[in-house]
Amino acid sequence: MGARSLLPDDIERYVGETITKETLLQKRLRAETAKLPMGMMQIGPDQGAFLALLVRLIGAKRTLEIGTFTGYSALSVAQALPEGGKVIACDVSEEWTGIARRYWREAGLADRIDLRLGPAAQTLKALLEAGGAGSFDFAFIDADKPGYDNYYELCLQLIRPNGLIAIDNVLWSGAVVDAKKQDADTAALRAINLKIRDDARVDSALLTVGDGLMLARKR
Ligand code: CA
Repeated sequence: MGARSLLPDDIERYVGETITKETLLQKRLRAETAKLPMGMMQIGPDQGAFLALLVRLIGAKRTLEIGTFTGYSALSVAQALPEGGKVIACDVSEEWTGIARRYWREAGLADRIDLRLGPAAQTLKALLEAGGAGSFDFAFIDADKPGYDNYYELCLQLIRPNGLIAIDNVLWSGAVVDAKKQDADTAALRAINLKIRDDARVDSALLTVGDGLMLARKR
């Protein structure tokens, strides 16, 4: 099993490298990120393509990203947005997002991605205080796992009805089904999975793409 995916390595490579279309810039960003010590935090190319497809399917124009890392997911989403589209990208790392900014500029998409450095919960609360409730179409949550519940609640207020929230790593390399795993990250993921399953405010489906991707559509 690969570090990121639940798939056997050869199938992972077939899906990601052979079948998924990627720009040369996306390939370079992935290669540069893979060399970092935390490189396995990056989403796979198939997941990037899937996020782009979702954004196009729902006709998203304004999107949120919680956890930007080196910018691959924001790049994938930004290039799928229409003219005038916007990604508000939240992250705390100047170092990682420095790489992201370099690639966004090179892609000519820097004006479409609004990076907010700082704790994401504060950024999201500020958007709500500024009257942003219901003004977003899509949110991708891929950050610290104990923060997921709070990010989900805030994003649910910020997106419109029929808007979509995608939450990454909800299977946590299978740890969610291992009773011996009682760490805070795994516990937070089990909790959010069950909460969303029973949440009458959304329709949901858990996809086994990547490390598990929960989709929740706001009713
Ligand atoms: Ca992730």
